[in-house]
Amino acid sequence: MCLFCKIVNKEIPSNIVLEDENFLAFHDINPKAPVHILAIPKIHVDSFNEVSPETMAGMTSFIQQLAKETKLDKNGYRVITNIGENGGQEVKHLHFHVLGGAKLKWDHFSDADPKDFI
Ligand code: 5GP
Ligand code: ZN
Repeated sequence: MCLFCKIVNKEIPSNIVLEDENFLAFHDINPKAPVHILAIPKIHVDSFNEVSPETMAGMTSFIQQLAKETKLDKNGYRVITNIGENGGQEVKHLHFHVLGGAKLKWDHFSDADPKDFI
C-alpha cells in the first residue's frame, strides 16, 4: 500500500485539515509556503495522467471548499500537481499541493533553454 493510502487509512498519522467521503486534505510534512496543504482522492490514483474526469470534478469542489475554509480564497493561492519523472513527483498517489498564506514566488522551473522546446 502506498504512503498516502496509509495516510487515508490512518495507519500513518497526518495533520488533517478537511475530509469528506472521497477526499482528504492534510498539512505537508515539509512545507514550502506558510500554508502548504496536500489534497488527495481517497482512492488510489497514480497521478493526474490516470485520473478520471469524475474524480477531478469532485477534487475541484473539494479544493474550492478547502480554500474557503482556510480563507486562502481571500488573497489567493496556488494549486500544483507534479506528474512523473520530469514533473518531480515523489509520491505516486495523486496529490494537489495547495500553497498560500503569503505572496508566492514565480521563478523559472528549469535551467534548460525554453527555446529548445518551442
Ligand atoms: P511530490 O514531490 O510527490 O509532488 O510531493 C510529495 C509531498 O509529500 C512533498 O511535498 C512531501 O513533503 C510530502 N510528504 C512526503 N511524505 C509525507 C508524509 O509522510 N506526511 C506528509 N504530511 N507529507 C509528506
Ligand atoms: Zn495510494
